[in-house]
Amino acid sequence: MAYDDDNVFAKILRGEIPCEKVYEDEHVLAFNDIAHMAPVHVLVIPKGKYVSMDDFAEQASDAEVAALMRAMGRIAREAGVAESGYRVVANTGPDSGQEVMHLHFHVFAGRRLGGMRRQAGGSE
Ligand code: AMP
Repeated sequence: MAYDDDNVFAKILRGEIPCEKVYEDEHVLAFNDIAHMAPVHVLVIPKGKYVSMDDFAEQASDAEVAALMRAMGRIAREAGVAESGYRVVANTGPDSGQEVMHLHFHVFAGRRLGGMRRQAGGSE
């Protein structure tokens, strides 16, 4: 799938839509989800134009992959949930229910997260 420059996260990256920024570096932006599903619900995105996890895994540089993984760990530590625990979800493609076609990792924390399926947005 080709990258669509009009997706909402592309607009956030260009500063056309505001966000509650949590973290930023050369390769990564992280901000609070607008419809949070847990006390901590942060979206962590690469600044590069990657549609999905599949796209990112295939096309991103080692530096971009490393920055994204390290950012998630840092965000969890700074939110104070590294010990209590958290969940990372990257919906990818139609079966996952991915709505925004710019790769994003959801970081959920701050309460008992329960079963995987509900938190992952599944209908089962
Ligand atoms: P997904 O279903 O994995 O594609 O998740 C998309 C997420 O983006 C949802 O959790 C939305 O609440 C979130 N979202 C959509 N628009 C915004 C926005 N402007 N700022 C922050 N989060 C957003």
